[in-house]
Amino acid sequence: MSKNTVAIAIDGPAGAGKSTIARKLAEKTGYIYVDTGALYRTVALSVLKNGINPAEVGRVIEHIGTISVDIKYIGGEQRVILNGEDVSDLIRTPEVSMMASDTSAIPEVRAFLLGLQRKLAEEHNVVMDGRDIATVVLPDAKVKIFLTASPEIRAKRRYDELVLKGKGIEFSDVLADLIKRDEQDMNREVAPLRPSEESVIVDTSDLDLEGAVCAMQKVVEEKLNGEI
Ligand code: C5P
Repeated sequence: MSKNTVAIAIDGPAGAGKSTIARKLAEKTGYIYVDTGALYRTVALSVLKNGINPAEVGRVIEHIGTISVDIKYIGGEQRVILNGEDVSDLIRTPEVSMMASDTSAIPEVRAFLLGLQRKLAEEHNVVMDGRDIATVVLPDAKVKIFLTASPEIRAKRRYDELVLKGKGIEFSDVLADLIKRDEQDMNREVAPLRPSEESVIVDTSDLDLEGAVCAMQKVVEEKLNGEI
């Protein structure tokens, strides 16, 4: 982040609606939307493709020294690029989700992706979502929101998304994965998932999309005080 750019940081657990709501906020503000989970998923995809066991931390660290991960915007849409190849359509699987949670606990993986996230916020006004944006990546963000909802509601949203994509999957598996991922993300030593002291907590359990966007927009308007 530079003195001349503005950042809206949105953190929260899987399935809280961060990306849908952040995208809407980006549309309304004209800021670019940065989905940092996609970066962790890109690293995870590479680790998976290379058959590396995430418990072999040394091998993961060695591997990230050999890859390049980047973000591009095509028609306003964020795409993630692994070694020059657009892998955006390959990273939304349950295997990649779990591998992203496993590998994101490794400090070297987080350090590997930090510079890119900060550079984007340095060069553009951003709505950035993730797990540690307010606490670690952009501690000076003007707006910090922690978006959450009950595990059952989050799992139901994720399940509906996967069913819509034609994936044959059990609700109980989606819920179990989500609870495991939350647990790992909240309890890791480096950059655990938690609200920063200044984060405004928005619980979307009882809100539909429109209601959630409205609640978030209110927080943004209050914090930016007419700057958008
Ligand atoms: O947000 P998404 O579900 O795509 O993130 C996938 C995983 O990447 C998360 O479960 C989390 O372990 C990791 N992640 C992270 N820090 C971020 C964004 C995502 O550790 N800023």
